[in-house]
Amino acid sequence: MLGISCFWLVAGHGFAAPDRSKSDYEQSGDVVWQVPTKDKVIALTFDDGPDPTNTPAILDLLEKYNAKSTFFLVGDKVERSPQLVQREMAFGHELANHTYSHSYLSRRMTPDQMRRDILHAESVIMAITGKKCELFRPPGGVFNAGLVSQLKQEGYTIVMWTWHQDTRDWSRPGVKKITDTVLNHARNGDIVLFHEYINGKSQTIAALEIILPELIQRGYRFVTISELLTYRVKNTDPPQSPSLIVADN
Ligand SMILES: [Zn+2]
Repeated sequence: MLGISCFWLVAGHGFAAPDRSKSDYEQSGDVVWQVPTKDKVIALTFDDGPDPTNTPAILDLLEKYNAKSTFFLVGDKVERSPQLVQREMAFGHELANHTYSHSYLSRRMTPDQMRRDILHAESVIMAITGKKCELFRPPGGVFNAGLVSQLKQEGYTIVMWTWHQDTRDWSRPGVKKITDTVLNHARNGDIVLFHEYINGKSQTIAALEIILPELIQRGYRFVTISELLTYRVKNTDPPQSPSLIVADN
């Protein structure tokens, strides 16, 4: 059980320190849940892989529909299937950090221990890609201000998912449920949460077969999280030039 004095629940999906609100995290850019934009872009994300059973079929579909996505990789699985990570990289998907051992932040797992686990994953991924990850998603969505601050120093942005785009595909709710969750709520700048590894037979692949062509039909383009983050800048109005400000007294 997490101590109430140390953590509080953010919209039922994770924990944050009491001194910072979701909007504070969002406005500072330290944690991202979505990037509202006028452009028809959407970011698909896949956690807990690579997975030798599901990942090849997921990648086949993403390649077929040219859907660049972001993979939040687990370090020890990367070590077991490096060829899948190479395939993800070769296509232009973004690779991101989801810890080495899929540990959750808890009383027994402090921000400092988490940081070490995350850096372990980083070294494993870097050995394959030659590039440092810039994005981190905490397992279970659990984070606090201490972890955010430590990871900021390591050059990471924390990426969550848009609340209405939590497909809960890990719980195998049915292909229709997964499909409906995404398609009934799709908005510009959403971050959709899927999983590569699932305990049992994945329904995610069958859902993607419906979701991908439908979103393309609606005019959406699939972007990586790093590309989505560029829309934060595009959304900001340029600052008013001082020379244009006319004093009225
Ligand atoms: Zn996970």
